[in-house]
Amino acid sequence: MKGHVKLSGLTKAYAGVVAVDQIALTVPSGTYCCLLGPSGCGKSSTLRMIAGHEAITNGRITIDDVDVGELPPAHRPTAMMFQNYALFPHLNCIDNVAFSLRMAKVAKAERYERARRTLELVQMGAYESRMPSQLSGGQQQRIALARALITNPAVLLLDEPLSALDPFLRIRMRGELRRLHRELGMTFIHVTHSQQEAMSVADLVVVMNEGRIEQLDTPRQVFNHPKTSFVARFVGGHNIVSGKLKALHTDGFELSSPLGTIAGVLPQDGSPPTHPGQPAEVAIRTDLIRLQHSEEHAERVNRVPAVVSSVEYQGTSMAVELAAKEMEEFSIIVPEDVFYRAPLQPGDQVAACWERAAVHLLQQSASGA
Ligand code: ADP
Ligand code: MG
Repeated sequence: MKGHVKLSGLTKAYAGVVAVDQIALTVPSGTYCCLLGPSGCGKSSTLRMIAGHEAITNGRITIDDVDVGELPPAHRPTAMMFQNYALFPHLNCIDNVAFSLRMAKVAKAERYERARRTLELVQMGAYESRMPSQLSGGQQQRIALARALITNPAVLLLDEPLSALDPFLRIRMRGELRRLHRELGMTFIHVTHSQQEAMSVADLVVVMNEGRIEQLDTPRQVFNHPKTSFVARFVGGHNIVSGKLKALHTDGFELSSPLGTIAGVLPQDGSPPTHPGQPAEVAIRTDLIRLQHSEEHAERVNRVPAVVSSVEYQGTSMAVELAAKEMEEFSIIVPEDVFYRAPLQPGDQVAACWERAAVHLLQQSASGA
């Protein structure tokens, strides 16, 4: 298998701005990896350095143990699909797709044969003589994808490949990218600022923040065990509560917080990130919190009296916002059918309760933010 990518100490500085800060990342052959993070966190710079479109300030990039840092893009085993597709407007589809083979002086018959096969792969076989201006956005995107795939790269680099598509097409293309990845078995590195997109396609999610890697995990692990409050906020689905660590047990902990005592479980691997008496933050899953109508407001562990501040219909679920003690916002997701068994309105008094397993302890952010 080819396409084993290794970044070590990879750094990019533009006139005083450190865009990528000593990144270490290994992407094993055949992995679908997503670089995920907010705008400006250094995703595109990282991708462009891998492709060879941006010089490295410091550090190393190896692909299958070859240092590619000094090689021009065409000599690397990579191909890149750009955000704006960058199709040649004066060439029809098949010539756009065959372009790099023409540059490589591949004979005409072979280049057209390979271009046709690649067009079939992205389901654009019927469009070979159309001009880019005669295609929809989604079709142009498939042509751009075919143009990147035709060189049979070991690593396919995709910079925000779905961001120009409408929401329906985006979901369909997500599925298409996964299918292509499965069929071709090459390494994909896909940049996105959408957590939903990353979760849906990736085997490996790399969450970036201010040029650093904040967390590197499977999508499920990122969602179930966000390492820091930055990750928990960015992937969503959690309430973050700050307080002071009160006690540590072998498998759990207690936090004193403005919401009262919050008890949670510790991860099975790794040691707790802090000591009793120290400030700490926890994440509580919004979908694992239950609401009770509460007449008596007895305070217990993991049970917080609150007032409903808003209710939003979301189809399969309801988003309920609560005002609780000093917390500015505390969000809960309730399945629609559960909600309508005992509907709530703004102003209603409730109690929010959750199990210890819905809570886990966060670490300090890598960027110090
Ligand atoms: P992302 O793709 O995550 O949005 P980028 O890698 O494009 O982030 O940018 C990271 C940081 O580097 C940003 O602060 C951006 O303004 C800066 N940057 C990107 N490209 C250049 C450039 N060519 N010259 C100067 N600064 C740049
Ligand atoms: Mg970008």
